[in-house]
Amino acid sequence: MRATCVKIHLDNLKSNIHQIQSILEKNTKICVPVKANAYGHGIIEIARASVSSGVDYLAVATVNEGKQLRKAGIKCPILILSIPFTDELPELVRLNLIPLVYEPEFINTLDSVAGKLHKKIDVHLKIDTGMGRIGCKPEDSVEIAKHISVKKNLALTGVCTHLAVSDSLSSEDIDFTKKQIALFFSATEEMKKQGINPGIRHCSASGGTLLYPEAHFDMVRPGLIIYGYFPSPESKQIIKKKFPSFDLQPVMELESKITGIKPITKGTSISYGRTWIAENDTWIATIPIGYGDGLSRSLSGKLSVTIKGKKYPVVGRICMDQCMIEIGEDGNPEKHLISLFDEVTIFGPGENMNTAVTLADTLGTIPYEITTLIMPRVTRVYI
Ligand SMILES: *Cc1c(COP(=O)(O)O)cnc(C)c1O
Repeated sequence: MRATCVKIHLDNLKSNIHQIQSILEKNTKICVPVKANAYGHGIIEIARASVSSGVDYLAVATVNEGKQLRKAGIKCPILILSIPFTDELPELVRLNLIPLVYEPEFINTLDSVAGKLHKKIDVHLKIDTGMGRIGCKPEDSVEIAKHISVKKNLALTGVCTHLAVSDSLSSEDIDFTKKQIALFFSATEEMKKQGINPGIRHCSASGGTLLYPEAHFDMVRPGLIIYGYFPSPESKQIIKKKFPSFDLQPVMELESKITGIKPITKGTSISYGRTWIAENDTWIATIPIGYGDGLSRSLSGKLSVTIKGKKYPVVGRICMDQCMIEIGEDGNPEKHLISLFDEVTIFGPGENMNTAVTLADTLGTIPYEITTLIMPRVTRVYI
């Protein structure tokens, strides 16, 4: 196997799921989003481990992702969080996937596709309470729910929405979130009043799951926290105040091994563009990982990695397949400190280790992007 790999700590995943279960009411279901290859962690293995930890639903973005799960023998309900294209509907119906619906025309088409295949399928109605992405207006939701309920080949088994700022603690954002929750709640209450069962009501991703117990309803859809990252430092503080033992562990560990060590003299340049020049005689280690593996080139000059518990800087530009680390005198073989093929951790669980959050902060992005961008050529090893 190649020296660069991603280790997926399934024990951490299971522990994160148990932590989340511990802050929910007993009957609240969990839906684990495994879209985008489970945020880069590996869709099948994450789905299996989640189901065996007692989660009720999985969610994907595309019909193809749903197909991967069904092919792997996963039988639980699977939500499709994005709107599929008409071409994909027969497959969606055959695979027994649950689409989010809200447009009358789409609902009609889906009903007739299901009818032609002699199947009745579950759908969840999506309401846009403020995300501005997909979903009907709250004031139209009862009518649309009725429209679904008269369709012979569709069963309305859930109603949902998505919160736009549930991870933020600014008072303006808290007001906005509470307004979204209230709009959602009153829409589902109005359905009940008019004799329509909204089924499973769900609206919380990670932020709502941690910070808004009143937004748990019948099911939550936490992604990021399942993979071991808090949506924000503030959300971590708040949940720890309420549940002191609540903790999350990163599931992903990005690792490589040293494939070269050499001494260089003061004035030697390293990598493309000669952006880094040794100020002293020193030692350089090379590792076979680069932006072709998903380690962003924008991290050049801004990243430290861990070898045997100690941090060392990546120097010079990160190349497509390799990058270099300044290990100083620790690289001197007489010291017996660092040798060829020693493990190098880019990020992962553990004290003083970079996590996807550290890298995201450096790059001005979010941890979702860091883990999702790890390329397929990096082997996932499940432990
Ligand atoms: C991705 C997604 C989630 C999970 O979001 P996290 O922030 O990772 O918890 C929940 N609901 C919907 C609709 C999503 O698209």
